[in-house]
Amino acid sequence: MENCLFCKIAAGTIPSDKVYEDNELLVFKDISPIAPVHLLLIPKKHISTLSDCTDHETGLLGKMLALVPKLAEQHGCSVKSDNKGSPYGGYKTLINSGPDGGQEVYHLHIHLIGGTKPWSK
Ligand code: AMP
Ligand code: ZN
Repeated sequence: MENCLFCKIAAGTIPSDKVYEDNELLVFKDISPIAPVHLLLIPKKHISTLSDCTDHETGLLGKMLALVPKLAEQHGCSVKSDNKGSPYGGYKTLINSGPDGGQEVYHLHIHLIGGTKPWSK
């Protein structure tokens, strides 16, 4: 999709601080983090908002959500009871949708936000 920031990041024409990539998904650090850990998970294909997903995207959405706890664990946000050595005790998962939902970039993304509070959003 032309003129979509996250499509350009997915294509590599705009740089990002990548932390995960596979054939369908890309995960990179938010450029303006609101917490010690702030990652964005995107599908490589353009989907504007969560509301633009159809039954066809059920598998993709499930894959994105299932990746969240793995990334959280890797970035020190364990929620497991024996999280010895993990600096943070949890994380927040957020999808902003539409103008009144606070969405700024119209390419579907999941925020993974973690670290010691306080932080907002
Ligand atoms: P949202 O308000 O849910 O649409 O979130 C968009 C997010 O994209 C914000 O948290 C921005 O800080 C982040 N963002 C904007 N441009 C970039 C960029 N070039 N690289 C990484 N994150 C970005
Ligand atoms: Zn896009």
